[in-house]
Order: sequence, then C-alpha cells, then structure tokens
Amino acid sequence: MDAFITRKKRKLSPSAPVERVKTAAADDQEDNEPTEFKLAMLASLYPALEADTLLDVLLAHNGSVPAASTALTKAPTKKPRLSGGVPGAQTCLQSFGQTLHLYTPESISAQTPCTLIPSFLPPQLADTLLTELLVESETFSSSTFKLFDNIVTSPHSSCFFVSSDLSASSIKADYLYNGSTLTDVRPLTSHLEIVKPLVQEAVNAEIQKRIASKYGGKKLRHQSTHEWHPNAAFVNRYAGGKESVGWHSDQLTYLGPRAVIGSLSLGVSREFRVRRVLPTDEDGKKDADAEGQIAIHLPHNSLLVMHAEMQEEWKHSVAPAQVIDPHPIAGNKRINVTYRDYRPEFHPRYTPRCKCGVPTVLRVVQKKKENFGRYFWMCHAGNVPGKTGCDFFLWAEFDEDGNPLWEKLKSKGENKLG
Ligand SMILES: [Zn+2]
Repeated sequence: MDAFITRKKRKLSPSAPVERVKTAAADDQEDNEPTEFKLAMLASLYPALEADTLLDVLLAHNGSVPAASTALTKAPTKKPRLSGGVPGAQTCLQSFGQTLHLYTPESISAQTPCTLIPSFLPPQLADTLLTELLVESETFSSSTFKLFDNIVTSPHSSCFFVSSDLSASSIKADYLYNGSTLTDVRPLTSHLEIVKPLVQEAVNAEIQKRIASKYGGKKLRHQSTHEWHPNAAFVNRYAGGKESVGWHSDQLTYLGPRAVIGSLSLGVSREFRVRRVLPTDEDGKKDADAEGQIAIHLPHNSLLVMHAEMQEEWKHSVAPAQVIDPHPIAGNKRINVTYRDYRPEFHPRYTPRCKCGVPTVLRVVQKKKENFGRYFWMCHAGNVPGKTGCDFFLWAEFDEDGNPLWEKLKSKGENKLG
C-alpha cells in the first residue's frame, strides 16, 4: 500500500528559489506516481492496447511514461495481436533482456541492498503460517486511491496487522495511509506472532553483518542505533501472475529514515525487481546503464532483508508473471509478510501538520542531484477521495541516529528553506 501515495501534480512556476525547490519535490512525486496512474495515462493515449501490454512496456521502461509512449509510437499499430505479442512488445522484450537475474544469497547481497535467507523457517512452521494467511487473505481488500475523479484499485490485495504493543485502535485513529485512516487493522495472527521474534533475530544479525561488510564498519548516517523491533506487519497477497505492484519505495513516515524491513515470502515464487534511483544532473542527464533492473527470485519460505540504504536509494516492484509454478498449498498465490518497526518517536502526534490540519508524509529527494537524499515533510491530504491537498513543504531534521529534531523544525517554520 505504501506504493499508492499519489496526488495531482501541481503546476508550479520554476522562477522563484522556493518554488524551484518545490518543483524538485514535485518531480520526485511524479516519479513516485503509482503504476496504475501511469497505466491510465497510457491507456488514454493507446486505447486499442490491452492493460497487460501497456504494463509490460511501462515496466520495461522503468516506469517512464514518456519512454513507454515513445516505444509504443514507434511500433507498428495495425498488426493483429499474436500470442503474448503486441505492437511494441519487441522493444519491451529487448529491455527485459537487460534485467540481471539473481538467485543466490551471495550475488544478492553483493549487487543489491538486500540479503536473502532461503529456507528461513522450519518447513512445517512456514506451511502453517501460509495456510493461516491464505484463509485470512480471503477478506483482504485492494488498495484504492484517487486518480483525477476516479477511485482506482491496485492489482493485488493487502492488509495491515499490528502487534499488541502497538494498539490497533491507535493505528486506526491516528495513522494516515494514502491520506486517510485505515479501517481494517487486525492484530497479528497467532503464527505471525510466533514468527516475529525469529524474523527479529535474523534481521538484527543481518544488519550487523551488513554494517561490517558493506558500510566499512560504521552504520549509515541517520540509521538507528537501536535494535530493530518489528511491531507491525503489512501482508500482501498476489493471486495469480497478473497481480503485481509497480515501482515504488516504501513510505518512511512512521519508520523514520534508513528503515529496515523484513520480508517473508510464502507460496508461489515471484520476481522481486529492484533498481537504483539515480538523480539527474542540471542538464537532466543520468547514467542509464547504472539504472538497470535486477530481478531477485523469492522462493517459498525465504526471508529478504531490505537494508537501510534501500528505501532512499532504490525502488522495487513485483513484476507480473506470464507463467507461474503452482505451489502445493497456495496454488497460484504468493503471500508476502513485511515486518516493520513503527518507531514511537514517529507517531503522528509529533509529525508536522499541514494547512489541511493532517499529519504530513515523510519523503526524500530522489530525482534531482541538487538536494539528493534530503528528507522533507509534505501534505498528502490530496490522496483522499473528494479532497485536494495543500502546498505545505518543510525540510526534515534528524540527528545522526535518525531521531527527529522536532524543536528545530518548529523554529524553522514552514517554507523557510535552506
Ligand atoms: Zn495539506
């Protein structure tokens, strides 16, 4: 669901310095538009093509609508549809050829911001958790968000589960997602509770290994020094190869900067794709080669640790699959449990409120070299059906360990940038 933070693009004048910073933020926002939003744009341009085709071409072009549109324009448009092949599909297949496929834990930790632990749980426990969540997921709903005046549904379903130390009623009342509160928040199921400490132990061990082997022995700036303590789990269900999720980074609003996430895969094996976010320089250039897609294959009962550098510097997606190997228990379904550490210091009672009176969302500049990696707070009320957002913008302030410096923020006030 973190993928589906969206808002209408604002028309901003590029002249004034303050406005220029806001434009950079708006550009980042555009890059973060959900795939469904981009698909709807392409569908309006190419009404004769099926959504699957448009999605393939869009994914092959790293989610860029202009690049996908160019590829589709160049393709012959009057050919009949062949088996899985369509106008533009050739371009798309060539791009897929550039994807690097990784299967081993060694290659994954060397080339991506993740580590993979195959056969993570005792097999019986993994099967029991899977069985429990398959039943539970029958009542999951699809995320919805606003696209112009329409409510759009995401192509997979999900649900939010919380540990007893993070009350479900507080999550419902105080925390905003897509600009509105969640109505369906469930306590962790008995087996999500049983598995939680196992994930906690493994993730903390992997964080230490990562610091030693990849960060030169020193944690990242703004990475927390506290032990990672999962108290919530976002559970996704992908029923069949067509269900997917577009390119996105997970929302940091309640996790804080340099967040770590423990992601357990159950059932059908699917491709999890990652790509590095590269900012453009002043001429709008970037190194296209360095932005290639990497596909990580996530088998049943594997734990993927998404490390502290991931959400700020990489985007991820679950690609649609043409063919899937049915799983003996799950059939065509993949269940994905993402354990998260909701930090108390990021409770929405503390976060800045925008002019709409709602707690703001934490974002990071990803698209422009200028201010790359800087965090900021902005309005997300525009995602609520029937509402438009405001232009609230405030650079975030954290100490070395990623603790928010709320007092410093208050003294700065809104829009006093720099
Ligand atoms: Zn607002």
